Amino acid sequence: MVEEWKQIIAQSITKPEQVRHKFNVNVRKLKTVVSQYPMRISKYYFDLIEEVDDPIWKQCVPSPLELQDPHGLDDPLNEEEQSPVPGLVHRYPDRVLMCVSNSCATYCRFCTRKRKVGNPVITYSRERLLQQIQYIKKTSAIRDVLLSGGDPFMLSDERIEFLLQKLRTIPHVEILRIGSRVPCTLPQRITPKLCSILKKYPPIYVNVHFNHPLEITEDSARACGLLADAGIPLASQSVLLRGVNDDPVVMKNLFQKLLTIRVRPYYIFQIDLVRGTYHFRTPVETGLNILASLIGHTSGLAVPRYVIDSPGGGGKIPIQPNYIQSIDEDKIVLRNYEGKTYAYPQNPLTEKTPKQRITP
Ligand SMILES: *Cc1c(COP(=O)(O)O)cnc(C)c1O
Ligand code: SF4
Repeated sequence: MVEEWKQIIAQSITKPEQVRHKFNVNVRKLKTVVSQYPMRISKYYFDLIEEVDDPIWKQCVPSPLELQDPHGLDDPLNEEEQSPVPGLVHRYPDRVLMCVSNSCATYCRFCTRKRKVGNPVITYSRERLLQQIQYIKKTSAIRDVLLSGGDPFMLSDERIEFLLQKLRTIPHVEILRIGSRVPCTLPQRITPKLCSILKKYPPIYVNVHFNHPLEITEDSARACGLLADAGIPLASQSVLLRGVNDDPVVMKNLFQKLLTIRVRPYYIFQIDLVRGTYHFRTPVETGLNILASLIGHTSGLAVPRYVIDSPGGGGKIPIQPNYIQSIDEDKIVLRNYEGKTYAYPQNPLTEKTPKQRITP
């Protein structure tokens, strides 16, 4: 019997004409876009679209604007140069990112790896994966391995188990992480069988990716519940997207709802400077205002970190509204979430070296 999720994948929307079966739009222009950046929308995710140009549509249906981006770069984070072996990015001292799959249940139009995902020429064969694992094995500083892609959960159960089992034989690898959008775009993929495999190789953390409250459905809640029941802590990352979620009310609703499905908001990403995604870019102030509307106003658990992944490959840098009005030898003057001012005295007994002084 073919598993349900495989049947749903088989019904994916991959051609602009298929969009027209449901929505009355001119899709002729989209063919050029799709020849450059592939399209795939899982049947499940497609069915979440309520109307043309709504927040789900914008994330998954190609737009002619993707071909009108004068500013974008193919590899804005310089991942290729920070890859000691193909598909493995070693940017930070103690952790690596392994690209293990080039396929996703739905290709997000704003994807940072737009240069790679869905490209049939790029594949992660068993040999390639073993080469990545070999690098991790010989690099003892690596204690955290993040499986990414593409989407690792697009691999077969057997391939996933192969990876986890191999990685777990490396003594210095303390934690495993999996980044996946499948709980959002193809929740049927999260099966009891998959969870029983994951359960065998703890500690595993799964980072999901939700961008809008409309993505939180009975199905996605069930998928996250199954993972959580398997003892897997869940976090979510969201990309700040113009016309999708660049709004404090939408974001607060999203983060509060994620907590109800046992997912802790982890990051909001300022969108990377990826070619073909310019139309999604918001001013940084939009993100800062969203954070200001969350911090103090709702559960701290519902407040992710807002980060800019530095162009050129310097890693993620957290930014937030400024709550420090001044700081000197005597006191720090702070602003609270309501805009009121508070002072906290410094301890006069502790001497500080010039290095310890900070300037806001
Ligand atoms: C995001 C990322 C990580 C993980 O970063 P955390 O801040 O620890 O979540 C690791 N490697 C690369 C290349 C990344 O882009
Ligand atoms: S699921 Fe992730 S890797 Fe795949 S297209 Fe979307 S953002 Fe890119």
